Amino acid sequence: MADCELCTRARPTLFPIKAPVHNLSYPEGAYKGVCDICLENMEKAWQERFGPKPEAKK
Ligand SMILES: [Zn+2]
Repeated sequence: MADCELCTRARPTLFPIKAPVHNLSYPEGAYKGVCDICLENMEKAWQERFGPKPEAKK
């Protein structure tokens, strides 16, 4: 079990996402562990704002 870094739910699986964090500790950006629920919500929010991602087309 690990806690999601967004909603703090304890989930068996977390997904690493690239977070737009750029500071001295993370010059390349940081990876955050988020749960499946947050991942899905972020995906929806992204598509509402920017439309479907090009790589999603098949
Ligand atoms: Zn979460």
